[in-house]
Amino acid sequence: MKLVADNPCCQLCDRPAIIELRDSIQALDALHCQVHKPDLWPRKLPHLSIRRFRSDPDSITCRLMEMPEDSPEHTSFREEVCDLLILGGEGACRYYLSKLTNSNQFALWNTEFEDNAYEYLLAATNGAAKSFEVHCNVGLLRAVFKLAFEGSRQSRAATTKQERAVVLLVNHLTWSDDAIAEKVPTTVKQLKRNCDYNALRASIKTRRDIGLQTEPSIGRLDLR
Ligand SMILES: [Zn+2]
Repeated sequence: MKLVADNPCCQLCDRPAIIELRDSIQALDALHCQVHKPDLWPRKLPHLSIRRFRSDPDSITCRLMEMPEDSPEHTSFREEVCDLLILGGEGACRYYLSKLTNSNQFALWNTEFEDNAYEYLLAATNGAAKSFEVHCNVGLLRAVFKLAFEGSRQSRAATTKQERAVVLLVNHLTWSDDAIAEKVPTTVKQLKRNCDYNALRASIKTRRDIGLQTEPSIGRLDLR
């Protein structure tokens, strides 16, 4: 698990690099700070592609994450990121994973965070996450991280029905929609409206593909 970001400088100055670009003409990679970052929009430089990016280490987001947990600033930051999702599902995932690993995942490169998220998910599902494509499923990550975060505080996770459906499917890869709906409890019709659930259902490989004879044993995702 990567807890501290790789911290290279811009190739033109001493500021921290925030983006690494691949130049397909020169076959070179180059690091840029906020000031020297080329204008990539709208498709002005098609020979440049993004290899990785991160927030400026001195950005307001990184600083708020590192403030004392009970400070008014951090409390309102958590509400905005985890409840209002102002930074999207990924922002909530970065928040929970930061708390679960005692690090600042907002300061990491996107590639570092993605590797960490997958590593944590693999451990949390006792390897069952290998059975589905998870990199595109932020809803799944958020549900799993939120449960672990609430569990680490020994508070009862205030899970929504959507989140319960996702976690139940992770815990029981071989269950049918009917079985999941009964357990949530909800209806199959409501289940079909749950984008995160549908994405996960679609990404689970068939039993034959993954050689699944019995259900993987899931120890750490506790819905209570
Ligand atoms: Zn620079």
